[in-house]
Amino acid sequence: MTNATLPAATANYGDVSYRGCGLLDRPGGGRFVYVETGGESVGLLPHRVKHSPTGMTWGYDGSGPADLARSLLIHALDTAARCVVCDGTNEVVHDSVTGTEVPARNGVASPRFSAPMRCTACDGGWAVRSSTYRQFQLDVVARLPESGWTLGRADVLAWLEQHGQKQRG
Ligand SMILES: [Zn+2]
Repeated sequence: MTNATLPAATANYGDVSYRGCGLLDRPGGGRFVYVETGGESVGLLPHRVKHSPTGMTWGYDGSGPADLARSLLIHALDTAARCVVCDGTNEVVHDSVTGTEVPARNGVASPRFSAPMRCTACDGGWAVRSSTYRQFQLDVVARLPESGWTLGRADVLAWLEQHGQKQRG
């Protein structure tokens, strides 16, 4: 499985759900969140680390919940979560011919391309903006019950639609 790409068997988006386990599984508040399809676990939700290296959690407003909010939105959006400017690499070069920024790996050493620089169009290669996942954190993740919960991928996408981030493709 590559970054943010769901297994082929889970192409039916409505069937994918996320289940948070109430147990405090790891030091620092990290808890397990499973990705399920048809009620069967297909693996753990990948932790897209930004605020909380020790893990993801929920039920209050903090860094662990911020990472859970971000990781849930990235997973739910699948390929649409990848920044199109840098192609998810977070590194671009300026193309002096087209006047645009292109993924750094396209910029073979040449007078045409600038030195690689950090992409300013995204957040670490992800198109999920911090204002969006912060709002999701407050609206949803901070309110998830301590004891455990299940969220449908369709519910996450519906929240995103309501809050202005559309799926591509
Ligand atoms: Zn980018």
